[in-house]
Amino acid sequence: MLKKCRYYETENGDVRCTLCPWHCKIRQGQTGVCGVRENQDGVLRSLNYAEVTSVALDPVEKKPLYHFYPGRDILSLGTFGCNLQCVFCQNWSISRGRPPTRHLEPEQAVALAKQQAARGENIGIAYTYNEPVIWYEYVQDTAKLAHEAGLKNVLVTNGIIEEAPLRELLPVVDAMNVDIKAFSDDFYRQLCKGEAWPARRTVEIALAAGCHVEITTLIIPGYNDSDEELDRIFRWAAALSPKLPLHLSRYYPAYKFTVPPTPASTLQRAWELAKQRLDFVYVGNISIEGTSDTVCPRCGEVAIRRDGMYGVSGAVNDSKCRKCGEDLNIRV
Ligand code: SF4
Repeated sequence: MLKKCRYYETENGDVRCTLCPWHCKIRQGQTGVCGVRENQDGVLRSLNYAEVTSVALDPVEKKPLYHFYPGRDILSLGTFGCNLQCVFCQNWSISRGRPPTRHLEPEQAVALAKQQAARGENIGIAYTYNEPVIWYEYVQDTAKLAHEAGLKNVLVTNGIIEEAPLRELLPVVDAMNVDIKAFSDDFYRQLCKGEAWPARRTVEIALAAGCHVEITTLIIPGYNDSDEELDRIFRWAAALSPKLPLHLSRYYPAYKFTVPPTPASTLQRAWELAKQRLDFVYVGNISIEGTSDTVCPRCGEVAIRRDGMYGVSGAVNDSKCRKCGEDLNIRV
């Protein structure tokens, strides 16, 4: 029996999904935009509950999270489907395709995570690879069990979720990396068939709830790389907190998009612009000297060095600068 979805309304035999802001109206036998929530005789059911496409023990830096248990590993699970339709999707085979899955009930996932944690290898579970919002029931069930077992839960998400399900999930979520793909709705409408504001709202709600949050912007040449567009993101983030970690990620051609990869000079310029407003800015998917270390914003001490391949060294167990005591917004 497929799992019944937790957020929907019925309307004369059709259902309206209320999990994410798109509020898809779904006819009998059809799915919503995400392709994984189906109207079966007036009941909305999840097609991907406990269906796992990828299981791996990853460095937490790979999520990317640079200020959350640095240097540790986390059991990473993904399924299939997505509620955005980005033409440049870097994970399109699982977001738009239907790859083979293995069945892993929440109890089994948590048992595996606990075994790894007992060996000192793992801090918890990350819901990642594709979009975890549209895996909501499985993420919630698993995260509750993991939380009770003393494990951490991490979401790597596009942030496109309605307020009520987000607030219901947050008490068992320890950290999130949220994509802020651009500031403008035009970008999201043109390239992702979505809108920008829900992701920003998710960041704001999660931070206010005490969740550790980092954000990622994939920089695509000619689409979201102007100083003006980037600085709108940086100003918004800095207004939330100058200590909010920001990852500027290099784009590579993928899925339906053939624009050449982001030049290193563009990422360097974006990093310098962001550093004018934010304390912790990192360039990812490419190695550029000096852009992946954590440096104390007060005294300039290098707290954590990164080698570009998820290797870390330095004060990985300190949340404050060893030299001057400045808060580095690091959970340990
Ligand atoms: S979660 Fe899926 S079905 Fe529900 S509103 Fe969003 S895209 Fe539509």
